[in-house]
Amino acid sequence: MLAVSKDIKTINLNIGGYAEGSTALNNKTGGWRTFKPVLSRDKCVDCMICWIYCPDDSIVVKDGKMIGFDYEYCKGCRVCANVCPRSAIEMVSER
Ligand code: SF4
Ligand code: SF4
Repeated sequence: MLAVSKDIKTINLNIGGYAEGSTALNNKTGGWRTFKPVLSRDKCVDCMICWIYCPDDSIVVKDGKMIGFDYEYCKGCRVCANVCPRSAIEMVSER
């Protein structure tokens, strides 16, 4: 049980509380997206900076190459597009 006092100075948590492992796989966060990342393969130099920064493990890599996105889990946060040093990722409206 989480208890937060009115002045938010103290927070009490149950000892031993935990979240079950791998539950993130149950939440297909791709449904949250309003913009999706699209790769310009000709600009990409496979530096993997986008892979390091993606909070949803949605950068797809094969044989050392960045080949695209896992749209089931990519929530369209733009982090990959913002960190790409080659501007190889464009955010495109889903509508
Ligand atoms: S938009 Fe966000 S979630 Fe989707 S691939 Fe880029 S960094 Fe990952
Ligand atoms: S950050 Fe940009 S250049 Fe680097 S792998 Fe990702 S898309 Fe390619």
